[in-house]
Amino acid sequence: MKTGVIGLGAMGAHMARNLAKHGFLQTVYNRTQSKAEDLAKELGIEHAESPAAVATQSELIIICVSRDEDVLEMIDAIKDHLQAETIIIDTSTVSADTAKSAATILNDVNTHFLDCPVSGGTEGAKNGTLAMMVGGDESILNKAKDMLDAIAANIIYIGPTGSGQATKAVNQIMAAGINQAVTEALAFGKAMGLPMEKVVDVVSNGAAGNWFVQHRGKTMLVNKYEPGFKLALHHKDLSICKSMIKQQGDNALPTVEMTLIHYQKLMDEGYGDEDISALFRLKQKLFE
Ligand code: NAP
Repeated sequence: MKTGVIGLGAMGAHMARNLAKHGFLQTVYNRTQSKAEDLAKELGIEHAESPAAVATQSELIIICVSRDEDVLEMIDAIKDHLQAETIIIDTSTVSADTAKSAATILNDVNTHFLDCPVSGGTEGAKNGTLAMMVGGDESILNKAKDMLDAIAANIIYIGPTGSGQATKAVNQIMAAGINQAVTEALAFGKAMGLPMEKVVDVVSNGAAGNWFVQHRGKTMLVNKYEPGFKLALHHKDLSICKSMIKQQGDNALPTVEMTLIHYQKLMDEGYGDEDISALFRLKQKLFE
């Protein structure tokens, strides 16, 4: 299927490269045009000057933008230019309600929508090994499968529209807890004067081992917080989680509440564009 990508940030650009490698990529669009021009040049394809131009050329469109309002803005920009039966896949992390709104708008113009948020970081996007959680019609997923296999190694159909995003909320709550645990434990180890590279090596392969300590443990120890996954984006995700949690009997979860406060503090200090491992900045201060 002729495929277009809208949104060429840290994740979307890698997805586009992997689609190109497998011969699916037709065109790319990015709000900041220079990024689309550069990537199109690199991949030897044409770039589109508007989301509408992607719509007219594509049988499948992958969206990877930041926030709920950005996704809905892109849906609005393409909806009147799509060919019937086009499949639109949103890989951004947004709320289940936004996924449902997008699906309704696109159904009305005889096209199909799947919410397909991903996990695995920029490394997963680069290597085409993302985990993808899918909401929508499973028969549409089957039609899109060859293209999605180019960007994700583990594609799991969850259920109706919105359930991909609900699953991503589960993932993001877990990621917050892991970030809290890893940054706090490594700050403690550093304060004790341990050889921290060795500590990361050994704990990475034991029962406490996880993706985050393996990929971000050593960089945070030398105060490198290149994104990665921008802290402000995880704050956005946890705000979505907070409202979804509230819908379940007016509840709140401690990890979500605490991490939102910590991230807000870091954002206020100007660290919102750093990787989420920048939480280590706050944890180190506990031992000063
Ligand atoms: P990013 O590097 O900040 O890129 C965001 C992209 O969205 C850029 O291409 C940006 O265009 C575009 N965009 C934002 N608002 C827009 C709008 N109103 N109209 C059109 N384009 C708009 O973010 P990212 O890390 O790629 O993340 C993208 C999505 O994937 C987010 O929802 C994030 O939560 C999710 N995600 C990220 C990771 C990760 O590890 N980074 C992992 C899983 C999921 P400009 O270039 O013009 O700014």
